[in-house]
Amino acid sequence: MNFCLYCYEPLEKSLTWSNWLTVEKKSVLCSTCAEKMEKITGQRCKVCSRAWNSSLCFDCQQWRELGDNMERNYSIFHYDGMVRDMITQWKFRGDYILREIFRNELQIAFEKQFAGNDSSLAIVPVPLSKNRMSERGFNQSLALAEMLDAPVKQVLGRKTGEKQATKNRKARLKRDNPFFTTEPLQQAALIVDDIYTTGTTIRQAAQQLKLHGCPAVYSLTIARS
Ligand SMILES: [Zn+2]
Ligand SMILES: [Zn+2]
Repeated sequence: MNFCLYCYEPLEKSLTWSNWLTVEKKSVLCSTCAEKMEKITGQRCKVCSRAWNSSLCFDCQQWRELGDNMERNYSIFHYDGMVRDMITQWKFRGDYILREIFRNELQIAFEKQFAGNDSSLAIVPVPLSKNRMSERGFNQSLALAEMLDAPVKQVLGRKTGEKQATKNRKARLKRDNPFFTTEPLQQAALIVDDIYTTGTTIRQAAQQLKLHGCPAVYSLTIARS
């Protein structure tokens, strides 16, 4: 018998020798949990994936005016309800195995949205500060990156002693960039992370990557807040 990774209820269809060929994908969640995960459907901002009924959301219009350096973010779920609880449990309570919840959807989104268009993408994880790393025990971005079928290049580092974030996004992007590049990346990058909130982190990473040879920066995130 297999159990739901999240609520521990027995799974309806357990994997046995007689059915293993017919079960398409090993599900790790029961249908009750899986159905509560709210996917982003319908119209969305073509740059940041926010549910939005025109092609570019208000935020991305502002980014564009500043000279946006991120090509596109694709998010799978709304950062809400069940997905928010799952991410909290996984990331802040150190329940590393819960990354399996996202494996199938992450792989599908990667294939459909990115790998099909550009087979030479490097997956770039967002580094964590030393403090965060010791609090959490793992880097959620690297944990997700490793589930994709593409080379992972850890070319970003993170400065220690980050300043308090300023409110002005332009100033924050330029002055308080917490990232540096450890080696140039001469290929397009796909940053993988759990949540897209303001998009500032991804753009700060993109700024560093592009200063050192990277031609294009995309991002794939589990949830859009
Ligand atoms: Zn469940
Ligand atoms: Zn947008």
